[in-house]
Amino acid sequence: MIDVAVVGAGISGLSIAYHLKKAGLEVKVFEKEDAVGGNIQTAYIDGYVCELGPQTILADSKVEEFLKDAGIKPIYANPSSKKRYIYRKGKLVALPLSPVEFLLSPFLSLGGKLRVLKEPFVPRSPKQEESIAEFVRRRFGREFLDYVVAPFVSGVYAGDPEELSVKYAVRKVYELEQKYGSVIKGAIKLKALGPSGKLISFEGGNATLIRKLSESLEVHKENVVLRIRRKDDIFILDTKEGKVTAKAVVVSTPATSTGYLLRDLSWSISEEFDKIYYAPVLVVHVAVKFGVLPEGFGFLVPKKENKRILGVIFSSNLFEGRSPEGKSLITVYIGGATDPEIIEYEDEAIVSVLERELRETVDIRDWDLLKITRWKKGIPQYTVGYGRYLELANSIEMEQPGLFLSGNYLYGVSVADCIRVSHHIAKRVIDFLEVKGRTVV
Ligand SMILES: Cc1cc2nc3c(=O)[nH]c(=O)nc-3n(C[C@H](O)[C@H](O)[C@H](O)COP(=O)(O)OP(=O)(O)OC[C@H]3O[C@@H](n4cnc5c(N)ncnc54)[C@H](O)[C@@H]3O)c2cc1C
Repeated sequence: MIDVAVVGAGISGLSIAYHLKKAGLEVKVFEKEDAVGGNIQTAYIDGYVCELGPQTILADSKVEEFLKDAGIKPIYANPSSKKRYIYRKGKLVALPLSPVEFLLSPFLSLGGKLRVLKEPFVPRSPKQEESIAEFVRRRFGREFLDYVVAPFVSGVYAGDPEELSVKYAVRKVYELEQKYGSVIKGAIKLKALGPSGKLISFEGGNATLIRKLSESLEVHKENVVLRIRRKDDIFILDTKEGKVTAKAVVVSTPATSTGYLLRDLSWSISEEFDKIYYAPVLVVHVAVKFGVLPEGFGFLVPKKENKRILGVIFSSNLFEGRSPEGKSLITVYIGGATDPEIIEYEDEAIVSVLERELRETVDIRDWDLLKITRWKKGIPQYTVGYGRYLELANSIEMEQPGLFLSGNYLYGVSVADCIRVSHHIAKRVIDFLEVKGRTVV
């Protein structure tokens, strides 16, 4: 019998396993696919480094500490990547980086800007829980929703602001209103107007993070876990390669798989977790044959502009070595919760969308298609009422001591969120197993 079985070798499972192993526990990680990393996958095509899932990680001091401890060296994004654009009426408009730039920039109309400046005087809502769209319309006005927040929501969640919960999807913003009565006032008080952290990746792409983390772990690839049962204080995992017994189990799989795996322990969890919606995302890698990309990170396209592209990242601007000398690489995102059908389109149809829309947005005419990646269940959507899933996760953990749940559908969708929370989950596992005299860093 092992101490801990971790199911799922995405960043959630691997980072928890890392902490547990470091604390001296016997840990095995089980992964259904022949590749580890889950959403984090990097492809190397003709000298281009293509991130099929996450492109950058917004690392704060906790994430940096974790990487340092694991001996994994990050690389930092080019400083010019602070520059980001919004596509508006045929042009890329730079997002302002300071209050003065905000007043001078054409990214919002004068009326739109004045409405934003009224935000500190808008009262709190009497409503229990609002969608992001309701919250932003009420506090900042419609134009700010359409041209700033909605594109941001599609950049992070590939989501629909009318559906996502302000409380669960952008909790920090929600808390600013709760605590200070105004998002702007609270942000000024906390000096939290910009993104908090540094954009990082790794030499050779994000797959390097996964490779290095897995090197020190016992990962059983292509060994799907089919069900998890319990006999007295012992968990029994039925895997493709046979039975495994463990004192504790960490389930770090997407919500649907988690519900299915736990069907013997809780029928309600398997039914309910199946309802968590994951927005589909199409990721297209494009090599730019001629021409120079605009400086900066990339651009987002507001829904109002009636395009199918959600946004484009100028990947070769971000980090060195992402494209062959003199060439550029861009990554195009399409689909999401507001355009889910496009995931089913054939490659030719996707290419014709790109042919039209890349010319209209960045004026890229000469390009080669490198790869189309379809994430049918891309990013979990923290919709209004999401709290019930969190309560359910909590209640099954209480009913089944020794069972721990993790994954991007619980504590934040970013890679950084998954890394940050791994420390707490590992600590709870260790406390449960009462490993005395050993610490988790
Ligand atoms: C297209 C896209 C772009 C993104 N961009 C960014 C970005 O730029 N920055 C950022 O911070 N985040 C980004 N994200 C989000 C981030 O990548 C994910 O939230 C994160 O990687 C999820 O990690 P996870 O370990 O929780 O889940 P997953 O990566 O889904 O890992 C779960 C693992 O469990 C395995 N599994 C499932 N069922 C079983 C089973 N029964 N037995 C064994 N194994 C099983 C799966 O195969 C998988 O490997 C993006 C996501 C997508 C899809």
